[in-house]
Amino acid sequence: MHQPELGTTDAPEVGELTPPTRTLMGPGPSDVHPRVLRAMSTPLVGHLDPSFIEIMDDTQELLRYTFRTDNKWTIPVSGTGSASMEAAIGNLVEPGETVLVPTNGYFGGRMAEMARRAGGDVVEVDAPWGEPLDPVDVRAAFDEHQPDVFGFVHAETSTGVRQPDVPELTSIAHDHDAYVIADCVTSLGGVPLKVDEWDIDAAYSGPQKCLSCPPGASPLTLNDRAMDKVLSREEPTRSWYLDLSLLEGYWGEERAYHHTAPVTNVYALREALRLVAEEGIESRWARHRETAGALKAGIEAMGLEMNVADEYWLPSLNAVRVPDGDAGQGPASTGASRHTVDDGAVIADLLDGYDLEIASGLGDLAGDIFRIGCMGHSARPANVSLLVSALGQTLAEHGAGVDVGAGVEATASRL
Ligand code: PLP
Repeated sequence: MHQPELGTTDAPEVGELTPPTRTLMGPGPSDVHPRVLRAMSTPLVGHLDPSFIEIMDDTQELLRYTFRTDNKWTIPVSGTGSASMEAAIGNLVEPGETVLVPTNGYFGGRMAEMARRAGGDVVEVDAPWGEPLDPVDVRAAFDEHQPDVFGFVHAETSTGVRQPDVPELTSIAHDHDAYVIADCVTSLGGVPLKVDEWDIDAAYSGPQKCLSCPPGASPLTLNDRAMDKVLSREEPTRSWYLDLSLLEGYWGEERAYHHTAPVTNVYALREALRLVAEEGIESRWARHRETAGALKAGIEAMGLEMNVADEYWLPSLNAVRVPDGDAGQGPASTGASRHTVDDGAVIADLLDGYDLEIASGLGDLAGDIFRIGCMGHSARPANVSLLVSALGQTLAEHGAGVDVGAGVEATASRL
């Protein structure tokens, strides 16, 4: 039988790009600010163009402001949050070193995986999913294992836990001469984060959460102590692309070619960070707390429960327990849910009926929680009001005993 040669088939008929207009209240990406979208449609310049060098300088300065740091070594890494994460871990961990990571969420697990691939020996400090690390346990793990590098997740997107006591954790690590890497993907620009004051050696983030920028250029900052370690490594880091000693040539004084920067993503990040500076970082933290506070008040008033104690509540990611339905009323659970209300079906109905995105739990919390983001440009009254009424209505349709009116009222009274 005659087989057409590869590449000789007719041009596929693919329609114009028309994604639905969603309200993004999941774990990210969040709604992108229109100014950021406009910045992305401005003409490209070369990645070594003198005008782009200025744009790079602006972006670095704005990143320093947002991270609350004077670190010279503050850059957007080309790629998603996992790229800035791997840049931090891959450069700071040397083969044979001991790396202490947390077990209390999905992203601590990813840290462990990256540390192993960097040649590190991974040891763990335990806490259940849904709780933060206890400094007492961290100190005990340091005394037992004497790690060289300690990674923790400041805002665990999988559980909605905000790690408190950060200065205490960093001081334990420094008492043991270790380096501290903080995952700030879901905290940067949304909840208080003070890299210098808290003495964090390296912090990384992503643009698509509280900065409300599309993924593609991901914030990273290292202090001099961390950068000295990176620059005096015995063997180069295993990734050429993420080797900070090479990237220094592009983002440092020299501005020489390493790889082609994602110009449009840098434009976007610069504009997103300009919005942070215009609002003021402290006001932005307050807006997240207040808007997510209204969301939380509505959730609780309708009879749902948050999965995390108030002390560790993370305004940018709200973990809400999947309720059980009134006996016999709700449709049978079909997904990972152990509850009579099927979380997957509720999430699908919100998307179909309201163009509203939220997400289910991951790992140990799969089927048990909804994850509701309140990040950046998504952290605004219109979104929160829609979320509370749409979630309440949909849960009621699925047989949950919720008081939708009380929820809507509680949210409205806080906005
Ligand atoms: N760390 C945390 C806490 C995250 O929430 C995410 C993404 O959701 C990442 C790391 C990885 O970022 P990305 O998915 O952009 O690669």
